[in-house]
Amino acid sequence: MTWSNYGGNIVVKPKRIEQPTTLQQLIDIVRNAEAHGLTVRGFGDGHSFSSVAVTDDVMVRTHSYASPLPLPPMRNLAGNPRLVNVEAGITLAQLIRHLRSLKTPLALPNMGSYTGQALIGAITTGTHGSGLTLGPIAEMVRSVLIVASGGRVFRIEPSNGITDPAVPETGVTLVQNDDWFHSVVVSMGCMGLVHSLVIEGIPDYELFEDRRLGRWTEARSMIDVDHAIFSRFRHQEILVNPYSTDGAPKVLVTARRTRTTEALSPQPTRDSPWLAIANVAQELVGIGLQSHIVNHPTQIPGLLDSGLSALRGTFCSHYDGVLTLGLGGIDGYANEIAVPFEQTATAVDIIIETLNKLRVPKNWRTYVTSPFSLRFVAASAHYLAPQYGRPTCMIELPFMSLPDIGVTEESVLILNHIQRRLQTTCDARMHWGLEFDALTAEQVRTMYPRWQTWCEVLLALDPRGTFRNSWTRRVIEPLLQHTGGTITA
Ligand SMILES: Cc1cc2nc3c(=O)[nH]c(=O)nc-3n(C[C@H](O)[C@H](O)[C@H](O)COP(=O)(O)OP(=O)(O)OC[C@H]3O[C@@H](n4cnc5c(N)ncnc54)[C@H](O)[C@@H]3O)c2cc1C
Repeated sequence: MTWSNYGGNIVVKPKRIEQPTTLQQLIDIVRNAEAHGLTVRGFGDGHSFSSVAVTDDVMVRTHSYASPLPLPPMRNLAGNPRLVNVEAGITLAQLIRHLRSLKTPLALPNMGSYTGQALIGAITTGTHGSGLTLGPIAEMVRSVLIVASGGRVFRIEPSNGITDPAVPETGVTLVQNDDWFHSVVVSMGCMGLVHSLVIEGIPDYELFEDRRLGRWTEARSMIDVDHAIFSRFRHQEILVNPYSTDGAPKVLVTARRTRTTEALSPQPTRDSPWLAIANVAQELVGIGLQSHIVNHPTQIPGLLDSGLSALRGTFCSHYDGVLTLGLGGIDGYANEIAVPFEQTATAVDIIIETLNKLRVPKNWRTYVTSPFSLRFVAASAHYLAPQYGRPTCMIELPFMSLPDIGVTEESVLILNHIQRRLQTTCDARMHWGLEFDALTAEQVRTMYPRWQTWCEVLLALDPRGTFRNSWTRRVIEPLLQHTGGTITA
């Protein structure tokens, strides 16, 4: 049996792929695996490019449990009608539809540009959208039900959590403790199999979006001089073409705010950046995108500029129609680097300089085939979220995946090189899913001030190493040697 991720860069042959539908089946899977000395790993939609979601032993398809559930017994149910309990494998798209179908329609407070991920898959790697007043998706979690090693079931919440301790759930240990909660929410599958999550939605909303073309020098001074400009909008993103056609790299600045009086756009979604670039290639030269890129690499800079131009304008729709960019039928891959907000300009300068230095005019494989994006995100409270403790600029460096070629070696070398440079110069952290297995435990130790507490919680939930894999061997397990294993709930 072979499993591969969406990018096709991670291929494993697990002994089994389980498809549980109930909590009891999750418990049985963990106990049975442990009885046979096997490891277990949950996976969502396979949309991570790192090997964070795999094991050679027992993989668990989280999408197989994806339904809404009743809320757990709460301290004050009437007090918060925006709480919703769902099984962890529901996709973001299904969750958006479910929230909108409620008697009083609700919405996700924030989301990324894609909705195919499992809810837990997105939450547990620190997946995010943009907004300096909005954290990553993980910030909407209020309660986590997880099956830990030994088949033990824990409901984990902050110390003032929503569940009423006076009304115990059968077979569930309630832990209301900030350290546990802020460790388990972003825990990359390392602490057990998450069964369900209580999230807090907000009333359904629509967004108005304005996209303007400019130059990196202008955007740079805006970031440097007036941070307040950014905070005035609900969402702020910038696409940067690293290659200039006239001496000054171009950018597309996107600002979004809640719709007031604007008319809704006739169509519910609009072009993705890649579709815009593909359309431009078709219009400009009458040939497909792939042959244009492969045969005329020196035209890539102009192609990216034209793609940015094509995306100018305004758009108004339901929040998910505005925030979902889709792929436009073109596959791609990326790494994503989290730098402190105030390091944004320095990091972008380094990326532009590096990409221009590394490109070889006749070799398309040495060019990035997409503008890179800057998304500004509020600080997260979760200890291993890439946005932990600081307003963050998430820098995504995407490549189009050309048919029959997929992830190229050259692109991974480029991505890893930039990753290392920003780690040493800009205090950068990595998105746990958008990374090509270059991360080490030593880097994690220096990036995350609360790593030790996180490791203590990991050891409490998984003392036997049931949820370890090749990824944890490199990124997490060396840290455990420096951990006391003394934390209690
Ligand atoms: C096309 C595309 C668009 C993307 N857009 C964005 C974006 O806009 N913003 C952004 O930040 N990221 C984005 N990403 C990255 C993506 O959101 C993350 O990599 C995410 O983790 C993938 O979710 P998944 O459901 O595919 O989970 P997987 O990649 O399969 O797994 C991710 C993690 O979840 C864990 N997991 C799965 N199920 C369980 C469970 N039941 N219990 C415990 N742990 C579990 C896995 O072990 C693994 O550690 C994108 C990726 C792609 C390919």
